Amino acid sequence: MSKKSTKYIFVTGGVTSSLGKGIISASLGMLLKARGYSVTIQKLDPYINIDPGTLNPYEHGECYVTEDGAETDLDLGHYERFLDSPTSQNNNVTTGRIYQTVIEKERKGDFLGKTVQVIPHITNEIKRRIKILSKQNYDIIITEIGGTVGDIESLPYIESVRQLRWELGEGNSMVIHLTLLPYLAAAGELKTKPSQHSVRQLMESGLQADVLVCRTEHKIPKEQRAKLAQFCNVNLENVIESIDVDTIYRVPLELQKQHFDRVVLQELNLPVDKDPELKEWKNFLKKYTHPKRSIEIALVGKYVSLQDSYKSIAEAFIHAGADLETEVNIRWVYSGDLTADNVAETLAGVNGVLIAPGFGDRGIEGKILAAQYARESSIPLLGICLGMQVMTVEFARNVLGYAKANSTEFDRATPEPVISLMEEQKNVVDKGGTMRLGAWKCVLKPNSRLQNIYGSRSISERHRHRYEFNSDFLPEFEKNGMIASGTNPETGLVEAIELKDHPFYVGVQYHPEYKSTVATPHPLFEAFIEASAAYQKQTAIKN
Ligand code: GLN
Repeated sequence: MSKKSTKYIFVTGGVTSSLGKGIISASLGMLLKARGYSVTIQKLDPYINIDPGTLNPYEHGECYVTEDGAETDLDLGHYERFLDSPTSQNNNVTTGRIYQTVIEKERKGDFLGKTVQVIPHITNEIKRRIKILSKQNYDIIITEIGGTVGDIESLPYIESVRQLRWELGEGNSMVIHLTLLPYLAAAGELKTKPSQHSVRQLMESGLQADVLVCRTEHKIPKEQRAKLAQFCNVNLENVIESIDVDTIYRVPLELQKQHFDRVVLQELNLPVDKDPELKEWKNFLKKYTHPKRSIEIALVGKYVSLQDSYKSIAEAFIHAGADLETEVNIRWVYSGDLTADNVAETLAGVNGVLIAPGFGDRGIEGKILAAQYARESSIPLLGICLGMQVMTVEFARNVLGYAKANSTEFDRATPEPVISLMEEQKNVVDKGGTMRLGAWKCVLKPNSRLQNIYGSRSISERHRHRYEFNSDFLPEFEKNGMIASGTNPETGLVEAIELKDHPFYVGVQYHPEYKSTVATPHPLFEAFIEASAAYQKQTAIKN
């Protein structure tokens, strides 16, 4: 039997950045999957960093980590959350990585003395990276091209798509162009001209858009749709409106109402006989938008002015909250502002505290104060990665009496290095791609809180850190009530800690938030929400 052929969908963006190509791609992927197709989504990023792992979250939002340990763009988080299926290094490619591969080949002499050029060498490598995913036998691969049409950086990608479309032949690929219809209040009109121009620009590079998805704040009148169709060479039904909605999770449903998925399948010569199965998605959305109770969690971090920095955590609260019909409001607390004098006031009224992951010493002492406050006041606390390390330092200082205890990330010469580097990390010089990354097994202690939460003894979670709990100190921690409830079965490294005599005081060295999806909310977030809701109830009775 011949191998089935994979269909390719390319998503480009025009007019401005930040139109939400990631959400549109994820929504389309979800709709196609709900029709029974196997789908994956890939992002091509036009910047020269090898991956976003070395980027400050202020620049590009959170760095999302996949099962295979790739440090990727935050859009991959949306893909996984919408599709409920894992992505990998192959799902995120940057210009830096493309050039690195081509230059390495050049050094090896693989080009046999030829002049190495953007066309064909760079474009061939881009095409190879796009097609690589077809080896996994997907029905459909959606490739999102980062940046905006017309950017110098995007040109090789657009050219590669042009070549690939030609090679794949008619009916096997399509282009969706996401564009903006600005509203001119003075004229009371949505304007189509910028979209016409960006479609024309795409055509100049040899790409014809098959579908237009138009971001808009207002409904698109019939005449405007007709105008766009006429000027941009697309069918009227291929002009899709993407109007602002209350939550990103409503986007697929809005698109489906306009038969976006059917239009796409028709363009790809695929059957459109059945409808997508959206019952569970609609049920999730209903519970999310009609919660029965509401809690407030303080998210203590140092990137608080940019919520994209903690994207997966915020989304994990949405998935788990919806499942429990609980609205989770996040109070963003900048740890750099916390002092012993204001910590009680700043955290007053919250029902739970989450101490966020992070790097570097800015705001560290504030996080330690928050951990101490939550421990002493019996407020539920979840510490993630750096958050767990902070809980460890706090406990060492204030319970074990090691006044100078620290992580060697912040104080190399601390006499009590309760968090320290593993031997193999000590000589690492490169920053990029050298941490403990990706999925690692973890064994949970029988009858621990964590084991009850997961309902299993062995779990696997994703990591992204360099420093570790220093096991030399473990016996003393355990003697004083802080136990290692999760350990790595191969290395013995401590992966999770919890306090025995506290309603919920759990720190995890891994990142549970990366594995939370709409279809599979994370049990640890659910347990934390339940504990916070219980604390809220109990404090309400007291007052
Ligand atoms: N900076 C810490 C480490 O490298 C924690 C990292 C994190 O929170 N992701 O170990």
